[in-house]
Amino acid sequence: MAQVLLVEDDAEIRRALIHALSQLGHAVMTAGDGMRGLQMALDAAPDLVVLDLGLPDMDGRDVLRMLRSVSQVPIIVATARDQETAIVEALDRGADDYLSKPFGAVQLDARIRAVLRRTAGGRAGANAPLVAGGLRIDLAAREVVLDDAPVELSAREFDLLSYLAARAGTVVSKRELINEVWHQPYSGTDKTVDVHLSWLRRKLGESAREPRYLHTVRGIGVKFVPYADPSSR
Ligand code: CA
Repeated sequence: MAQVLLVEDDAEIRRALIHALSQLGHAVMTAGDGMRGLQMALDAAPDLVVLDLGLPDMDGRDVLRMLRSVSQVPIIVATARDQETAIVEALDRGADDYLSKPFGAVQLDARIRAVLRRTAGGRAGANAPLVAGGLRIDLAAREVVLDDAPVELSAREFDLLSYLAARAGTVVSKRELINEVWHQPYSGTDKTVDVHLSWLRRKLGESAREPRYLHTVRGIGVKFVPYADPSSR
C-alpha cells in the first residue's frame, strides 16, 4: 500500500484510477493541474507521483523538472502513445518509469510496486560500493563517480549499471535485465534495454563500438568488464 499522488487533468481517468487503486490497497490523492500537483507533492509528501505529461496549465516535463529539483519522490509519467521523445526526455529528467495511455490500473499498480521496490532497495543500501578502475558505484547513496567526476544517472540507468557491475565478467541476457531490472516479462522484440544501455554508455563516455565497461556480446547480451582488466582493451 502506498500514498499515491495522481496529477491528471482528465476527470474521468482520475475517477477510474482513484477507484481502482483504492481497491488495490493504495491511498490516492489527486491534482487536476501542474501547479496544484507540485504543491501537493511538497505538502503531502506522497510515496510516489503519477504525472500526466499533458496538463492544461504547464508542460508536464516542466512539472517533472521542478519537482525533481526539490524532491526525490519516485515519479511515473503517463503519456499519450507515440510520444517517444517526450518519454525519453522525461526519463532523462529523472522520471523513474513511464506508462503509455491508455493503461489499466493493474498495470499501473505493478509499476508502482516495482518503482517502490527499487527506490526502497536504494535507501536500504548497506552494500559496499562497487569499484572498477575509475568507476565507483555507491549503492547506498545511489551515486556514480567516473574518473573523479560525478555521473548523473536516472534511477533506471543506475539500477542497470549496478546490476551489471555486480555481475562483472558475466554475460547478462536482455531477458534477465527486463525481468530483474525492469520487473517485466520479456517480449523478445523490446528495444528498452538497448535504449537505456545507449544512454548509459553516453553518460559513461563510451559507445557500443568503443566500449569501456559495457561490452555487447552479440546475440546474447551485455557484459560489464572492469576497466582495470587489461584483457578488456
Ligand atoms: Ca492530460
